[in-house]
Amino acid sequence: MELRFSVNDFNEAKQVIVGGVNSPVRAFGSVGGTPIFIQSAKGYELFDVDNNTYIDFVQSWGPLIFGHCDGDIEDAVLQAVKNGLSFGAPTERETTLAKLIISFYEGIDKVRLVSSGTEAVMSALRLARAFSKKDGILKFDGCYHGHSDSLLVSAGSGCATFGTPSSLGVPEDLSKHTYVARYNDIDSVEQCFKSGEIGCVIIEPIAGNMGLVPADLEFLKDLRKICDKYNAVLIFDEVMSGFRAGKNGIQAYSEVIPDLFTFGKVIGGGMPMAAFGGREDIMRLLSPCGGVYQAGTLSGNPVAVSAGIAALCKIEQNPHIYAEMETLAQRLVQGLQKTANANDIALQTCVRGSMFGFFFNDGVVKNFDDAKKSDLKMFAKFHQEMLHRGVYFACSQFETGFICTPMNAEVIDRVLGCADEVFRAIK
Ligand SMILES: *Cc1c(COP(=O)(O)O)cnc(C)c1O
Repeated sequence: MELRFSVNDFNEAKQVIVGGVNSPVRAFGSVGGTPIFIQSAKGYELFDVDNNTYIDFVQSWGPLIFGHCDGDIEDAVLQAVKNGLSFGAPTERETTLAKLIISFYEGIDKVRLVSSGTEAVMSALRLARAFSKKDGILKFDGCYHGHSDSLLVSAGSGCATFGTPSSLGVPEDLSKHTYVARYNDIDSVEQCFKSGEIGCVIIEPIAGNMGLVPADLEFLKDLRKICDKYNAVLIFDEVMSGFRAGKNGIQAYSEVIPDLFTFGKVIGGGMPMAAFGGREDIMRLLSPCGGVYQAGTLSGNPVAVSAGIAALCKIEQNPHIYAEMETLAQRLVQGLQKTANANDIALQTCVRGSMFGFFFNDGVVKNFDDAKKSDLKMFAKFHQEMLHRGVYFACSQFETGFICTPMNAEVIDRVLGCADEVFRAIK
């Protein structure tokens, strides 16, 4: 497989764009090699500038549940474009999208639309701090919530303590208010609450940013209890899992209702669109009703909102797609598992609706410490070899894979054929 033009493009990009990319994971840093430069895409396939074709399990990191260039979303966008790109004034469409989000989920009275997941989480956090009147927040090691300062914090010397900045430029004065607990470990949560400072807990209820690691359902119930006990605001960050793991994300699996939710990815149908929402008594603290400031020139952008409405309407009309995508995801991971077993390669797999994950790991993965024990060299080889056979997986062991509706069993079996060759080559 030739990557001549991609290599050229990458070198040229590096002259003017830091690292040649506009989001770091795209640089293929953890797997080596050159990122492919995309020419176009259709359905489940990507076409690069060297005329190679790939089966795409990244789907723009989640948003494209109906694949690339879905006709309905495309039509909605084209129609919207003709009526104006942005007004900075309200439109009826924003109400339609808000109603759709609220209709899918239990526990959302009000929402506000923003333009990225980072922005949604950052705003939800500010709101939670205002409501609880406490500065301390608790996050989980291995969960990603965008790149706002308070959340670029890692576990430091160990879990269940306040964190240390995981990026230069984040003041320690700020990171000391972010406590980091271990995923699926309620004792570590209890320990953090002893500080008396915590007014908010944020979690990916189906973690997709350390590989795919779902929270135990009992763990979510215990989290709810502990938040109630300490009057802390519980935030479910469903930027990835919302409208992806199921029509209503984690609520397809669990009855636990958080106080606030954050969404992104799927609700924009591929356009920059995100939202946060939840309980009326918390949401009403938001400006212009309350004293928590939050704003955005392009918030509720009419083109992005139109794409989001088209995606959510299509989901509403086709709720069966989740079971179908789950069947394909199971076919994929079971096939990978079988081939891995045959070649004595340790593999752990997981599926939640249209999301799937696999770790080159001997043991069951329940948290980030477990995930980090994976064989990253093996993953890098697997990634490279699959890429060369035209299969595009996310370029890190700590990411999730996505099925889209245009995929079918024949596509999955083609991928499994490649994986069979690759496992034999890399074992
Ligand atoms: C992608 C993601 C974010 C950040 O969203 P952006 O749109 O990239 O800013 C936040 N939380 C979770 C769980 C995500 O997967």
